[in-house]
Amino acid sequence: MSKPEKLIIDGKRLDGRGAQDLRPIKFKAGVLKRADGSCYLEFGGNKVIAAVYGPREVHPRHLQDASRAIVRYRYNMAPFSVEERKRPGPDRRSIEISKVSRESLECVILQEMYPRSAIDIFVEILQADAGTRVAGINAASVALADAGIPMKCLVSACAVGKVDDTLVLDLNKDEDNYGQADLPIAMTPSGDITLCQMDGHLTEDEFRTALEMAMEGCRYIHQLQKQALIEKYGQMVSPPAQEA
Ligand code: UDP
Repeated sequence: MSKPEKLIIDGKRLDGRGAQDLRPIKFKAGVLKRADGSCYLEFGGNKVIAAVYGPREVHPRHLQDASRAIVRYRYNMAPFSVEERKRPGPDRRSIEISKVSRESLECVILQEMYPRSAIDIFVEILQADAGTRVAGINAASVALADAGIPMKCLVSACAVGKVDDTLVLDLNKDEDNYGQADLPIAMTPSGDITLCQMDGHLTEDEFRTALEMAMEGCRYIHQLQKQALIEKYGQMVSPPAQEA
């Protein structure tokens, strides 16, 4: 699509949202039989699947850490996920996203509980519509909990951006392409920031407001993540207590 003349008309964005609105979000925990934990997420036009394996033996062994589990994160965009076919395999962008996403989750995982082991997180982007790294982190966080990995808390993520001189929550594809700034943020429920990147320019005041908007978005996403886990585990009946 060529650059639209305006991205905000009469206070509404081109997809009909107000500045503070997130796109529709749908989580489903435990969708893959052969992974220890998994999550499918639709976040606007993004369709993402996250799979977690582990804690498991580390291969190659020289990567083992005697004091803690290592965390590995692979973000991968399917060739058919974007308008212009993406060449399969890792590239600079996916390597960077894998690194920052791993760091955004590693800090809540209780790695010391599983020395010499690995926790592997795979995030596959099936359909991309801007905000895939934050979508991946949201899905991976639920998949980790689904795998029973001990964590201090869940991590929730969303982007804030600036378009037509206005701060907006959760950029869509056109806003990402033609906007003035893009600020993906991940945080814990208590507001500790575990990922903060920025493309473009914001003033200090804009940055502060953007952080508050992201915090609000993350709070809402955190509720949805919890709901997805309750949907899977809330119905589970504990086995009757064994008689002595
Ligand atoms: N994108 C694309 N081809 C690529 C990489 C990205 O079409 O090779 C699109 C995709 O929709 C992605 C968006 O550009 O969601 C924004 O990409 P960015 O690098 O800002 O990361 P994201 O916002 O997805 O985390």
